[in-house]
Amino acid sequence: MRALAKMQPAVGLEMVDVPKPVIGHNDLLIRIRKTAICGTDIHIWKWDDWAARTIPVPMHVGHEYVGEVVEIGQEVQGFQIGDRVSGEGHITCGHCRNCRAGRRHLCRNTQGVGVNRPGAFADYLVIPAFNAFRIPDDVSDDLAAIFDPYGNATHTALAFDLVGEDVLITGAGPIGAMAAAIARHVGARNVVITDVNDYRLDLAARMGASRTVNVAREDLRDVMRELGMTEGFDVGLEMSGVPSAFSSMLDQMNHGGKIAMLGILPDGVGIDWSQVIFKGLEIKGIYGRQMFETWYKMVAMLQSGLDLSPILTHRYPVADFRQGFEAMLSGQSGKVILDWN
Ligand code: NAD
Ligand code: ZN
Repeated sequence: MRALAKMQPAVGLEMVDVPKPVIGHNDLLIRIRKTAICGTDIHIWKWDDWAARTIPVPMHVGHEYVGEVVEIGQEVQGFQIGDRVSGEGHITCGHCRNCRAGRRHLCRNTQGVGVNRPGAFADYLVIPAFNAFRIPDDVSDDLAAIFDPYGNATHTALAFDLVGEDVLITGAGPIGAMAAAIARHVGARNVVITDVNDYRLDLAARMGASRTVNVAREDLRDVMRELGMTEGFDVGLEMSGVPSAFSSMLDQMNHGGKIAMLGILPDGVGIDWSQVIFKGLEIKGIYGRQMFETWYKMVAMLQSGLDLSPILTHRYPVADFRQGFEAMLSGQSGKVILDWN
């Protein structure tokens, strides 16, 4: 079968021929229809320090996908041949304390599809049936292919109550822009989003952000004055991984504010702890998606009118994967879909 793989410890990915994976008793074999490119895949493409430390070579990668079930392990229940599925990319151990308590997103032994084991950029993928999630008919293939990052946005945005709150999102990447759409959908008042990239801020505005701020040109405090916000933000969603963005978030939070942190800050970044302590801030780290509450909420929000379609900005047949990666690398994109059909 075809697979997009890292064959050498160097920049890029190659289309190669690899054996079709074989299923175990508890697995599903999924024929991949569409995949999307994640920021993680960009780290892998660039072969940065994290990728070099983490990704075994040779291996095919990718973890954002939709496909159909073509083979079912003999112990599996609840799936049928032809079911359209995406899947939770975090494969959890099932035996640690959190797994046994149903808190799978806190498993200490998580393995990543397309990170620690072969991924979805291939004609076929094997995952434990436990990780598969059936996609309802009214959700398109393109949207189903981005359930993984939509899940990051959902898990983060729904970490705290947003109804009637003023929300600051730092980072208008695909996940930040989707979080802006979710925050509006669930009833936030002001949804202010920051970035340094105008293309992405425009996209976030189309997705529902009530005010975009290019922090290279504008001061967030001026924007807050303009919006009549005298006290500060109630909820912060950190989605940039950029230290200066996080410290300005800490500065602009109201006392008692709550911050959900998805963005991965560089090692050893210091923060102004007095902001956290004297304001009584609550900070919650977010990893992945809640299994499977986040997935049910994702479907429900789409079915109750959440429109994520603007985030799907580029579509290519998988043979043109290089153009897809170039679009992501340029910063002038939302989500990029690769079609395997
Ligand atoms: P992305 O890199 O596409 O988006 C980050 C955005 O931050 C970019 O648009 C960038 O221009 C912007 N930015 C740069 N400097 C900024 C500044 N000073 N102020 C505000 N914004 C600034 O990433 P993404 O795919 O949207 O993911 C968002 C973050 O979440 C990344 O840090 C990613 O590594 C992280 N992530 C974490 C998890 C998890 O499970 N914790 C999962 C997925 C992604
Ligand atoms: Zn576990």
